[in-house]
Amino acid sequence: MHPNGGAADLAARHRAARLTVLSGPSAVGKSTVVEAIRRHNPEVWLSVSVTTRRPRPGEVHGREYYFVTEPEFKEMAAGGELLEWARYTGNFYGTPRVPVSERLEAGIPTLLEVDVVGARQVRAAVPGALLVFLAPPSWEELVRRLTARGTEPADVISQRLDAAKDELRAENEFDITLVNTSVKDVCAQLVALVTAEPVKLSA
Ligand code: 5GP
Repeated sequence: MHPNGGAADLAARHRAARLTVLSGPSAVGKSTVVEAIRRHNPEVWLSVSVTTRRPRPGEVHGREYYFVTEPEFKEMAAGGELLEWARYTGNFYGTPRVPVSERLEAGIPTLLEVDVVGARQVRAAVPGALLVFLAPPSWEELVRRLTARGTEPADVISQRLDAAKDELRAENEFDITLVNTSVKDVCAQLVALVTAEPVKLSA
């Protein structure tokens, strides 16, 4: 606690707010990890992306995603409203910029879940961001998870497997790798990273 409390404390937190990016191949378990953090860690703010993909059963507009049309998405991208965006196996995904900067300015630890292309854009746009790569325990396990999900047709699964091969090669561009052996362990490690104060190299 800052000795003066109140506004000064908030100001101290403001300077320390960290933007963390969680990325990794499709079906590695990013959304399961994010869902667990949503339930158990209200101290972490999870960015809600816009996407042109159709909702899966159980997904709620404004919770998992904002589901928009392609013209709506393109208008947002052209208007500079997205911090980053990417096309992923035929659909567009992007992070609305303003909600992220508002949370960071308020000192709230913020987590984005994006694909590898989006993570690279965040690296360029926000130099202090921490990039976390979520890796599967093995390639066989990733194939099993992607196939077992049962929400995508065969052609989409094969596109996602091709994308996953490229995404796995990007691991060394990230600051840290967490291996998804257990959702509970990964969440604990990730929340510790998200809420840690960034190291300051100068006063
Ligand atoms: P899904 O369709 O399975 O929800 O997501 C497909 C991929 O899009 C996942 O790798 C997910 O991390 C990524 N994704 C979700 N939201 C965003 C976003 O806002 N930007 C980018 N670049 N990728 C996203």
